[in-house]
Amino acid sequence: MKILVINAGSSSLKYQLIDMNGEVVIAKGICERVGAPEGHFELKTEKGKYEETVAMSNHTEAFLVVKKNLTEGEYKVIDSLDEITAIGHRVVQGGSIYKESTLITDEVIAGIESLCDLAPLHNPAHIQGINACREVFGDKVPQVAVFDNAFHSTMPEEAYMFGIPYEYYEKYQIRRYGFHGTSHRYVSGECAKIMGKDLKDIKLITCHLGNGSSITAIKDGKVIDTSMGLTPLDGFVMGTRSGGIDPSVVTFLQEKEGWTPAETNAVLNKKSGIYGISGGMSDDRDILKAADEGNERAELAKKMLWYQIRKYIGSYIAAMQGVDAIVFTGGIGENSQPLRQNICESFEYIGVKFNAEENPKAIRGVGGELSAPDSKVKVYVIPTNEELMIARDTKEIAEKVL
Ligand code: ADP
Repeated sequence: MKILVINAGSSSLKYQLIDMNGEVVIAKGICERVGAPEGHFELKTEKGKYEETVAMSNHTEAFLVVKKNLTEGEYKVIDSLDEITAIGHRVVQGGSIYKESTLITDEVIAGIESLCDLAPLHNPAHIQGINACREVFGDKVPQVAVFDNAFHSTMPEEAYMFGIPYEYYEKYQIRRYGFHGTSHRYVSGECAKIMGKDLKDIKLITCHLGNGSSITAIKDGKVIDTSMGLTPLDGFVMGTRSGGIDPSVVTFLQEKEGWTPAETNAVLNKKSGIYGISGGMSDDRDILKAADEGNERAELAKKMLWYQIRKYIGSYIAAMQGVDAIVFTGGIGENSQPLRQNICESFEYIGVKFNAEENPKAIRGVGGELSAPDSKVKVYVIPTNEELMIARDTKEIAEKVL
């Protein structure tokens, strides 16, 4: 069975074609600058990488370009779209409506649409992607929505409520939803497998550290808290996002700088965090290099990130009254040895015994255990695979309707 996994953004469309027989990625790529006069198409297969400049005025045209290249020419991997059994879509915001992956129907599309206010940049694009798929594949191919925050839907209300008047929760559904749920779900499942335990029997803290980052506490097999909030802005400093700050900073700056809500959002999402502190660098590799070379602002950004991660992990240990394992994933978590060493060593007092020899081995998609065999608390690097998780859910749901 072959599953197509789609992540549709406002001007992009990422895709992966996965053969579920062996869970092998047979093609993956991206359509960029959809809607612009000149777009960019990329496809990677085992034969190599193919790129072309091609105009795609909307997502349907982007899908037609994907279809053409998957089924024709030098890089083709299938004879026709009929070989694709089902399509899984990443959907960022499922609100409180969708607590698990769901077969897409007209009603579900309306549901995703009703949540556009909560994810104005993402949900409208996902709907375009879903509709474009329907046009290209027809209604007979099941489509499944895999929600980024569904895994977090188990949070208790004391974790997801914000301390603002309750009426705004009722009126606008303002609460913590969390994101990266598919990644946290994937690595927590893998971690339980590695430990040879049932997820229900372990207390886990999963750290997804990339350009966007979040940390999640999992107890009794359920998320009990996560660092991202109503939007992916909450938590700790990220590549360009501020993470959690005193809310008064926002109103103070709006008054002083005369910012509109959109301008405020732009500063907090695109110009803050590591980028804002360092003065223009958001890539963790650049920060580490500059800090090593004596750049004080890069050093400060690095120290802030490490300190804030440590505080989150510490607070989740308190929330769960213990921890059995800590997992690192995402571009930074999977690669940044100094960060992992710093975090592991700072938890020696609760029983983390760091294995410095193993740290360099877990890099670029290779996982590993960072804790010593006799470490009370285990630490793992587990490369994430959100697309595979989406494909697995899609397969399971599609099999029920086909
Ligand atoms: P996104 O959130 O966009 O999916 P990724 O998970 O791909 O991002 O993570 C991107 C981050 O991973 C960047 O900050 C990048 O610097 C970092 N990264 C990648 N390789 C390394 C490395 N070898 N050392 C430190 N950081 C790395």
